Amino acid sequence: MPDSVLPVFSQSYEEARDKFLLLSKEHGAYSRSYKHPSACTPNGAPLMLETAWIGPRDAKNVMVMVSGTHGPEAYTGAAIQLNWLNGHKGFPSPSMAMLLIHGVNPYGWAHSSRTTEHNVDLNRNFVDSYPSDTSSQLTEQVQALLCSSSPKGPRFKTIFIGLIRLLLNVGITKVVNEISNGQYTHAKGIGYGGDSAEWANLTMRAVLDEHLKQADNVTIIDWHTGIGRYGEPYFLCFDEPFSEEYQRARSCWGAAIDKSNAGYSSGQRPDYQGLLINAARDIAQGFGAKTTTAVIEFGTYANLKMLKGLLIDRWLRYHADEENLQIAAKLQTQMLRLFYPEDERWRASVLQHSETIIAQSLAVLNTDDAS
Ligand SMILES: [Zn+2]
Repeated sequence: MPDSVLPVFSQSYEEARDKFLLLSKEHGAYSRSYKHPSACTPNGAPLMLETAWIGPRDAKNVMVMVSGTHGPEAYTGAAIQLNWLNGHKGFPSPSMAMLLIHGVNPYGWAHSSRTTEHNVDLNRNFVDSYPSDTSSQLTEQVQALLCSSSPKGPRFKTIFIGLIRLLLNVGITKVVNEISNGQYTHAKGIGYGGDSAEWANLTMRAVLDEHLKQADNVTIIDWHTGIGRYGEPYFLCFDEPFSEEYQRARSCWGAAIDKSNAGYSSGQRPDYQGLLINAARDIAQGFGAKTTTAVIEFGTYANLKMLKGLLIDRWLRYHADEENLQIAAKLQTQMLRLFYPEDERWRASVLQHSETIIAQSLAVLNTDDAS
């Protein structure tokens, strides 16, 4: 019995990849595969980042959809990509195309970790420099707390009591920012942005360099899960409010993008560093394109529960061994389900909303064609 009657949702990286390759081929896509140079799946199979370009190769108005920046979140982004392919009957204009980037962090996906093979949060890795020698006292305190572990798992109670103490001292905004912004000093910590560009980062850049040179208008969505109301989309637009890009995002997806801050405990969006979406935007703009970009999350559970997911992810990487195999397997499933609920209603809601969002995006690109 499959875990879902919604067949676009997969149960493994391999299953999702096979479906993507098959359906892309059926659509006559221009496909590229990028093999990870050193890492493999847990079964020893290659790790691949796949792309599919649907539409004329010289299309000027291009939509890009990225899945899998954070490993287990890939299942949902990939399902959205497959669902779009399933329903695609052609574009309203010959100058439109879709670029699907499937499993941008295939290591994280196949190994059920949010991070890359180097414990790097790929969505903090797209920075110009990696400040590995400057660490604030708050970073030291927070990382020491978040890494509190026992052979049975993260020490949740110690961590949460410690965090409450800290936020009473320095305020919730500083603490949430510290956990979320990304850090470049604690390679085995949480939110580590790396000390150089990850393979996934370089590959993503190469994909965009190859496909977007001719583009005049580019709309990019990086699909994620874990922030927002259960099963509902949550828009994170990183362009400056009132900028041309922001206005374009607003005309595309409506006032929902103005609520970018509501999903955070502090009521304020952290000042994230090294985001993939911003790097993708800059590449498209470098080719002279006008851009409309957003990270779109689908909400799963409350912020505190999701923090537990990050702690489990780190613990599994550094503390799971032969002695605690059963505990590790249980925690692994718990973590996966925090980012990928095994719930038909949640999945159906995701697909329904994504169809609307993609239709809005393509409609605006089509208008760009006319202007
Ligand atoms: Zn994410």
